[in-house]
Amino acid sequence: MIRLQRGSTDERECHFCGCHVTDTFARVHGDQDDTVHRCLGCDCFRRVSRGSAAGVSVDLPDPAEQPNRNRGQRVGAALRTDGGEFDGD
Ligand SMILES: [Zn+2]
Repeated sequence: MIRLQRGSTDERECHFCGCHVTDTFARVHGDQDDTVHRCLGCDCFRRVSRGSAAGVSVDLPDPAEQPNRNRGQRVGAALRTDGGEFDGD
């Protein structure tokens, strides 16, 4: 498969939590400019699959307001690689 280069796509990140997202995630779930508003690190898959990553308002509880609703493997994964401290020190 040949990937087409469309501008600088090296460093993509979620605009909500700042976690790295792949180009594929941005292309599939992001908005028309491939901007990612939410990712699987800060939102649940049900909301992302309904358009929350594209900035669409989804009628499901937001894990940012109710953290106990988002406990998947990817949640906080970027923070755990930092030594397990959630405050970033
Ligand atoms: Zn995110």
